[in-house]
Amino acid sequence: METLYITHPACHLHEMGTWHPESPHRLDAINDQLLASGLESYLHPQQARSATRDDVLRVHTPEHLNYLHANLPQQGHFSVDPDTLMNPYTLDAAYHAAGAGLDAVDALLQEGERRQAFCAVRPPGHHATRDRAMGFCFFNNIAIAAAYALEKYALKRVLIIDFDVHHGNGTEDIFADDERVLMCSFFQHPFFPGSYQQPQPKNMVNIPVEAYCKADHVLERFETLCIPRIAAFQPELVFFSAGFDAHSEDDMGQLSLLEADYAALTRMVMQTCASSAHGRVISMLEGGYDLSSLGRSVVAHIRAMSGV
Ligand SMILES: [Zn+2]
Repeated sequence: METLYITHPACHLHEMGTWHPESPHRLDAINDQLLASGLESYLHPQQARSATRDDVLRVHTPEHLNYLHANLPQQGHFSVDPDTLMNPYTLDAAYHAAGAGLDAVDALLQEGERRQAFCAVRPPGHHATRDRAMGFCFFNNIAIAAAYALEKYALKRVLIIDFDVHHGNGTEDIFADDERVLMCSFFQHPFFPGSYQQPQPKNMVNIPVEAYCKADHVLERFETLCIPRIAAFQPELVFFSAGFDAHSEDDMGQLSLLEADYAALTRMVMQTCASSAHGRVISMLEGGYDLSSLGRSVVAHIRAMSGV
């Protein structure tokens, strides 16, 4: 069965300056590696719809949305913070990035003809809190998709795995203590955004990892701490907040994962959820800034998701 591959041309038009690592070239690098690997023939391409204002308001405040619309520049950039900037196309890209997740949810749950979807979208989302854009993120794409799945399809349990090198503070902010969501995550700590706090909300399994920790160690901790929780939770749908900036070649962080580690992690989660989620998994791009390792890691992750 083909894996759905959802993207949109608008995601190329959002850019935050030629110096910025979160660049449109990231999507080109992924596409190039999909072509070179031959994996493209196992993918079913789809153009993302635009999320609606109501879709976004499931997880964000009206004030957040109004602030972004009021400050969208007609030319040049508007700085939300020194790292997070809007150009005239940013919100169009953000609505389509969020819409990709909604399309994936519908394809897996309504039509039932697909089991796996990868959303090659930007801007990323996992740092966007209910009321704040930050860390290159404007709308929390994974949270918007998960909230839609919970509401529209009356799901009772969804799992979010966040393997970006940075803590998904926005997703945690949105779903803390929501018993319908289990979020499992490892991230470099101490590190941006500095949001890891004790005690943790009950539905969050956070694994702070010191800089230069070996990949084997990271995966062992994930297996020990997350897999039993995931097995007990019995998720009906699996989401990956798929950031690849924990790769050894990515200078954004100081962890050392390789493509094989992303594949192993993906398989571990898929096997644990095989019966409860029926293989249904939606992965959405978050970080990953070294272009070569980003493309290679996405290929390894999609192969593991799809079993090809
Ligand atoms: Zn990141």
